[in-house]
Amino acid sequence: FSETASLRACAEVDLAALRANVRTLRARASGAALMAVVKSDAYGHGAVPCARAAVEAGAEWLGTATPEEALALRAAGLDCRVMCWLWTPGGPWRRAIEADVDVSVSGLWAVGELREAAAAAGAPARVHLKADTGLGRGGCQPGDWPELVAEALRAQADGLITVVGVWSHFACADEPGHPSIQAQLARFREMVAYAEEQGLRPEVRHIANSPAALALPEARFDLVRTGVAVYGISPSPEMGTPADFGLRPVMTLKASLALVKKVPGGHGVSYGHLYTTPGATTLGLVPVGYADGVPRHASGTGPVLVDGKLRTVAGRIAMDQFVVDLGGDEPPPGTEVILFGPGDRGEPTAEDWAQAAGTIAYEIVTRIGTRVPRVYV
Ligand code: PLP
Repeated sequence: FSETASLRACAEVDLAALRANVRTLRARASGAALMAVVKSDAYGHGAVPCARAAVEAGAEWLGTATPEEALALRAAGLDCRVMCWLWTPGGPWRRAIEADVDVSVSGLWAVGELREAAAAAGAPARVHLKADTGLGRGGCQPGDWPELVAEALRAQADGLITVVGVWSHFACADEPGHPSIQAQLARFREMVAYAEEQGLRPEVRHIANSPAALALPEARFDLVRTGVAVYGISPSPEMGTPADFGLRPVMTLKASLALVKKVPGGHGVSYGHLYTTPGATTLGLVPVGYADGVPRHASGTGPVLVDGKLRTVAGRIAMDQFVVDLGGDEPPPGTEVILFGPGDRGEPTAEDWAQAAGTIAYEIVTRIGTRVPRVYV
């Protein structure tokens, strides 16, 4: 632990690894611009430091979900291209326009609200029209596309919006070979072509997230929006490990043993006594819990590295702490416990925790709580 880190727990964020990941992704994007997705506090890694590092390493764009996240980047002095995509009625759209933040539009009602915001701001809104090419979440249905394109052309002619992009998002890009991928690409090409035939001249067409940016060259178009890969995490175990793509995990989650004690065999451990010591042993108390983002679903399965040995969470993970069976070893309190990291020192990875908890590594890093200090190394 460095002096700035709490002895209880910390998430070390390796910004050199993040920069190297961005450079690797840029090289792979073969000519397309790179958007580093820094929504949700940069997937739990800290939005502003990660955004700065990504831009230093060559990311031309930053992407967020909410306009508030985008405005926070501007407030921190980041002046590159910034796009936010989670449209909500009554959002701070006038401020977004004034701050040169690009916004996504999936329907006519959003254009209406942006017209008013642009008139109030005295400048056009910079807009990316979102096509639902098959994700079935946000975006404009193909049948409604002509109406949205026509309305965008009218608002553009009125000087109230500038259509900067046409874009979409994949449903199954992390399942290579899934038939929906080619179907979405074909529909995207059609919807872009229609918009261009009608007279729109988007500067950027984009659909690729990390899995597509890594493994689907034909999906890169003008811009790739990479999130999880920037943080050195593979989009899915089926696609390979981070190292397979030349990526290095950025976050290491550490805690320090708060207590080590001897107990007899047959001793129930933690809430519900899901674990009973098989014989006389030592227990170590790790002072992080589900309030810190350690998933309760990994009770009895989550892996940790203590004193060079892999251990498993014994019994339930509680709000602020969990227990490991140290098998008779007696490392002193204060001994470092690594929950996850890059994996090259024998420690588990975020992916290992995802498997232990029945979720995805995205969720493991994103949910690390605000009580855990981020330490930038
Ligand atoms: N684009 C959009 C619209 C997203 O919502 C996300 C994240 O979910 C991304 C890009 C980045 O995805 P990934 O982290 O898989 O690169």
